[in-house]
Amino acid sequence: MPRNIKIAVEKGTRTLDGIPGKNYWQNEGKYNINVTVSPDTKIVSGMEKIVYSNNSPDTLKFLAIRFVNNVHKPESPRNGQVSDDFFTTGLDITSFAVNGETYNINSKNWGTVAGVRLKDPLLPHSSVELNIAWNYPLSKQDGREGQIDSTTFYVAYSYPRISVYDDYNGWDFLPHTLGQEFYNDFNDYQLSVKVPKDYVVWGTGNLENPDEVLQPTIAKRLKDSYVSNDVIHIATLDEMKNHKVTVQNDWNTWRFNSQHITDVCFAVSKNYVWDGASALVDAATNRRASVQAAYNDTAKDFHHYVKWAQHSLEYFSTKWPGVSFPFPKMTSFQGHADMEYPMMVNDATTKDLKFAEMVQDHEIAHSYFPFYMGTNEKRYAFMDEGWATTFEYLIGQEEFGKAHADSVYKMFRVKRYITDPSTEEDQPIISMSTQVSGAGYGNNSYGKASLSYLALKDMLGDSLFKKALHFYMDKWHGKHPIPWDYFNAMSAGAGQNLNWFFKNWFFTNNYIDLKIDTVKRENDFYTITVKNVGGFAIPFDVKIVYVDGQVGLLHESPAIWQKNEKQQVFKISTTKIIKSVELDGGIFMDYTPEDNRWQG
Ligand SMILES: [Zn+2]
Repeated sequence: MPRNIKIAVEKGTRTLDGIPGKNYWQNEGKYNINVTVSPDTKIVSGMEKIVYSNNSPDTLKFLAIRFVNNVHKPESPRNGQVSDDFFTTGLDITSFAVNGETYNINSKNWGTVAGVRLKDPLLPHSSVELNIAWNYPLSKQDGREGQIDSTTFYVAYSYPRISVYDDYNGWDFLPHTLGQEFYNDFNDYQLSVKVPKDYVVWGTGNLENPDEVLQPTIAKRLKDSYVSNDVIHIATLDEMKNHKVTVQNDWNTWRFNSQHITDVCFAVSKNYVWDGASALVDAATNRRASVQAAYNDTAKDFHHYVKWAQHSLEYFSTKWPGVSFPFPKMTSFQGHADMEYPMMVNDATTKDLKFAEMVQDHEIAHSYFPFYMGTNEKRYAFMDEGWATTFEYLIGQEEFGKAHADSVYKMFRVKRYITDPSTEEDQPIISMSTQVSGAGYGNNSYGKASLSYLALKDMLGDSLFKKALHFYMDKWHGKHPIPWDYFNAMSAGAGQNLNWFFKNWFFTNNYIDLKIDTVKRENDFYTITVKNVGGFAIPFDVKIVYVDGQVGLLHESPAIWQKNEKQQVFKISTTKIIKSVELDGGIFMDYTPEDNRWQG
């Protein structure tokens, strides 16, 4: 446990019991944002009022203001190559006031995060009001945001926000460099988006004024979709082209509302079509969530997106993680990002329908981790990507059968990692995500972390694993859990100390490599010695084939490695002759599979 985490425990904001401490706090904001998108100039301009509450025991002498899209400035640090079309001039703050007092702010040299010294410090348990006006250009090359086509834009990270000030690290001043993702406070948002007529806006939160911005037929279809099982074509291409969708004012202002959420974003288009339906996400209260998709009519996969998303929401609500979908809405938008946002997904189109469904499953799974759980993706990406990868695999078993899900998981999530003996593959998962790159970032965040969650599921069994996972989610949702909170919560929820398991998976250079060392016969006994060369506490099957054709199959859970992490000895009492022994880890692919087989 790092020193700053120990201090948090001493201060009583965190505990070793898996629950938030009695002194736990987090800061929050109420954001009232008015944004205008000008399709002619591709400029986003906005004004916002932020009421920011300092719930910490500390006096804040400055505020850290975050604007992720400054990563488009040529001088910003990035951890990958970009093209000329990626560059913009970034954020221009045109006015900035604190509690009504104008500050002379020059944002020309701001990076993705900048400090603003307060004239009057913000005292503990008090709040401050900011009023900010700004503008920035939409990047021509879209990634997680930007111009998708000349009349379609994905507008994310579009407003200056207050960075996180937390109990274990203080202000989050880590720059955004495209590689790692995000860490945000839970805020309330009133978001208004002003666009010209014929532009539809899809955004985070409930659309509050459908009748003001949509023509009556379209508004009715949208409302019908909120309770419909069947997919409704809310706006067709023909209607979009013929000015039959939005109200025909020169400009329309679309208003969205969302509470206790980590971010808001939106997308606009003059040429996308729009589908909608709903999913029952809580049978006890009959709560339904709206499911929508907006896409270019030529994208074949997106015609299935609403149907697929209904299944995702129902599966995630009732099976894994088995927690009722925590938001009222989910919109999938066709872009190029394969990226999650609260209540929004931005996915690329592909001809491979199974892959398209899997990607949408993955991005929607992020609704739980990080958006419901509030994890710090920048420092601990495995706390969200590992789970999204795990749920993507579990739902995939239901959608495509176990054999297909296994094969896809092995190919995309495990194979490249386990066949590559480079040092960076075997850095401990606990390594801070900002301190690893390339393969070290990718596999620590996705494959290895997911394997650890699935290994724990195998060890505890589905019912106890779910009980532990629900304990963790119940205690920490809407907060900011860190890895030690996860470890402690799973131990508490499972009613057993799992530290040995977490140490094995998160704090070592282990990898997956079993080996049959020896198979010896003595009287009526066989002694099979299995070495754990790679070290990870994985589940595996032992398949014993006898000369007479009989087959014996043993399944060992990771628990077998608790007492001795290096080696296991199996004693098989039999008068028969063993022909072959084989170890099979399934999705826990072995670095050297050739020594997993013994032939008599
Ligand atoms: Zn992901």
